Amino acid sequence: MGGILRQLRWRIVIANMTVVVVGVVLLLLAAFAITNRVTPASVQAQLAALADADGGTVAAATADVLTSFQKSILTAVFLAALGAIIAGLATSFLLAREILRPLDEIATSSQRIARGHYNERVAVPPSDELALVADNFNQMAESLERVEQQRVALIGNVSHELRTPLAGLNGYLEGLMDGVFAPDEETFALMDKEVRRLRRLVDDLQALSRVEAGQISLRPAVFDLIPLIERVLAQLRAQLEAQNLTIHKAFDLPTTAVYADEDRTAQVLTNLVGNAIRYTAEGGAVFVSVKQEASMAQVSIRDTGIGIPPDALPYIFERFYRVDSSRTRWSGGSGIGLTISRHLVWAMGGEVTAVSSGVGSGSTFTFTLPLSKS
Ligand code: ADP
Repeated sequence: MGGILRQLRWRIVIANMTVVVVGVVLLLLAAFAITNRVTPASVQAQLAALADADGGTVAAATADVLTSFQKSILTAVFLAALGAIIAGLATSFLLAREILRPLDEIATSSQRIARGHYNERVAVPPSDELALVADNFNQMAESLERVEQQRVALIGNVSHELRTPLAGLNGYLEGLMDGVFAPDEETFALMDKEVRRLRRLVDDLQALSRVEAGQISLRPAVFDLIPLIERVLAQLRAQLEAQNLTIHKAFDLPTTAVYADEDRTAQVLTNLVGNAIRYTAEGGAVFVSVKQEASMAQVSIRDTGIGIPPDALPYIFERFYRVDSSRTRWSGGSGIGLTISRHLVWAMGGEVTAVSSGVGSGSTFTFTLPLSKS
């Protein structure tokens, strides 16, 4: 019995049957109580006439009428109870089936997901409450599937990225062993370049895993953005000059005090200005501007470079995403820089966005940081 009571199906049946039984019992009790007590004067007069005609007593006639009346009530209640029981059983089984079928489906699907079938989804039932449960379940299954796809893609991407510099190194080593390359400074410099590329990639991957796991150690403090921007631009001067790029600065105010981590802000600026340089052809220009908007400082880095096609814009902050992987592979990019920058800006309470009117029209990257309150 305890086992049956734990099943929702039987609890619904028992609940409905209890309502029927209580209803019938109450109806019977009320009918008997009322018929025993109340015999209206008009009925009594007729009973007296009947008793006189039969030569019996009023009491005997009353008892006869009452008995046949109560019999009719019993028959009526019995028929009504039978109908109520059939209707009750039918509704409870239908109700139980409506509730239990989606639950059964969810139980089966969750087991399949646990065994690695992440594309499992359940049908959405018509009732609102169960539809919500099924919708939430499907959403959960979808995000599990996405995480799994990202995990597989991540392993694929990492091995792909590692393969390029390793293949380069391998080639130089084989060339050295076969005597195709001379063991001179030039060969070692080329090998060193590949090793550096590997190192940078591994460092980037480590930084990426930290930022994505939310393990960024920030040391926020109040500092002035303007001197930091000047410092980052000075560090990148050699690259700017090598490509004959002009740099234009537009700072709304001479100082812009923000509350953020200075080193991390420098990292973001280096990534964004570095990209602007990397993706702008010789003779182009890079514009750096700082504005104050409400409680945020807004730093924009615009270039006159190759631009970003509209269909690529939504993805450029995703890890390993490169608009043209063959071109950027040549330039050494792995598509991780913007992902790290976005996480760093988020962690400091800001946002980073990118706009571009399309290929050949340049790009603008903007990030915000909270202004210092003092
Ligand atoms: P990467 O190391 O490949 O530059 P990022 O994450 O910094 O990686 O950038 C991702 C991609 O976004 C780049 O490969 C490039 O295609 C595109 N991109 C980033 N900045 C710019 C820019 N200023 N102009 C044009 N394309 C850009």
